[in-house]
Amino acid sequence: MFIGIDDTDSKDRYCTTYIGTLLMEELGKKYLLDTPKLIRMNPMVKYKTRGNGGISLRIIEKDKLKDKDIEYIKKIVIKYVEEYSDFENENTNPGIVFLRDEDYKKNRDILRKYYKKVLYDIVDVEYAKKTIKNINGEYIGYKKELGIIGALGSIASNGPYTYELLTYRKRENWGKERIIDNKSVVEMDKKTFPLTFNNVDGDKQVIAPRTKCPVLYGIRGLEKDVLLKAMKMVVCGEEIDRYTIFKTNQGTDAHLRPLNIGDIYPNTGVIVYGWVVEEPKDIIGGTVIFKLKDSTGEIDCIAYEPTKEFRNIVRKLKEGDAIGVYGTVREEPLGINIEKMKVLKLNKKYIKNKVCSCGGTLKSKGVKSGYKCNKCGKRVGYNDIKLIEVKRDLLEGFYEVPVSARRHLSKPLILF
Ligand code: ATP
Repeated sequence: MFIGIDDTDSKDRYCTTYIGTLLMEELGKKYLLDTPKLIRMNPMVKYKTRGNGGISLRIIEKDKLKDKDIEYIKKIVIKYVEEYSDFENENTNPGIVFLRDEDYKKNRDILRKYYKKVLYDIVDVEYAKKTIKNINGEYIGYKKELGIIGALGSIASNGPYTYELLTYRKRENWGKERIIDNKSVVEMDKKTFPLTFNNVDGDKQVIAPRTKCPVLYGIRGLEKDVLLKAMKMVVCGEEIDRYTIFKTNQGTDAHLRPLNIGDIYPNTGVIVYGWVVEEPKDIIGGTVIFKLKDSTGEIDCIAYEPTKEFRNIVRKLKEGDAIGVYGTVREEPLGINIEKMKVLKLNKKYIKNKVCSCGGTLKSKGVKSGYKCNKCGKRVGYNDIKLIEVKRDLLEGFYEVPVSARRHLSKPLILF
């Protein structure tokens, strides 16, 4: 049996993953459970609290669950969701979805399609309800019921996956300042990278959230064992209350897919290949913007101030460079917020060598009329002047925004 939950927390209180952790403990007393999932959906959803994540649990059904088990499971799930949701916050609209194993197995295609839809598009709650009805699932929605969308999205997800180990604080520490020893995180990163990733930005740890939620810190990685070792290396100013390892689509680029520029629409994730047609310029607020073209159209590509030194790479692009842009599409004005950029082929740029062999300067004799040396009088035809290739201080290759500006879903270059 699958249980999906989403939209229970606010910036001030709780965390949906915490409910997942408590339910793993409570239901784990009676049933065998698979690794829980923390699934991120379309990051362009406007009413998200943080990273648009929904969680799901799976009770392994060795034998078909009895009616009284199902009633018990539902009762426990509802109890925890109701106890740990911030109902007072107007943007918190919890949703729970239940789906039996047999219905999950019968409806894999519908679920796969639904997962892609919630990653790439903005959907409404009616679409989620209709899908749940089609696959014989059940839902419980509170208030505007938006959480149903992500609750089903989490159940519906498929690989590739990475993992995140989340540690939680004792209740008396919720809301207090987190004390995490920076040096220990840097050291942990050195010892475990790339099997753990996104731990540090330069020499600053970035594993701890800044909100009042129950999470102390999270470590992302590829192997559960390494995450457990990494947790033991992190030194912090309080005792960890509990922890859970979630299977997750974080760090996979699941939200991106190749599109032609002509097919791009707002609030979706894209990978676009093309040529620079308007060179980068700085506009207000530290934003750098340039125009990309393919055979179907043109679009602005944007690197914002939080992407810091990544903008220096963008600034070096020249007209005619062939590049790939990975990112999400902002609505107004339409443009791609760059997450990663692949410089495929730098356009060769030349300047005329106007130094004569005698050391003098070749002066132009008028439009397309050739050149004459101001020292020895030598003449050089317009098309005969030597060209020098301008050295570019940009290398072909793949570039990404710094860790602190990275989306949960963005695949770090180290994983390519
Ligand atoms: P939480 O930890 O509470 O889940 P969050 O940052 O993940 O916080 P939510 O508060 O859950 O964000 O808000 C996101 C809302 O968007 C949820 O109600 C979720 O069901 C919904 N949602 C998810 N994907 C989509 C989508 N593709 N289109 C529309 N709504 C979506």
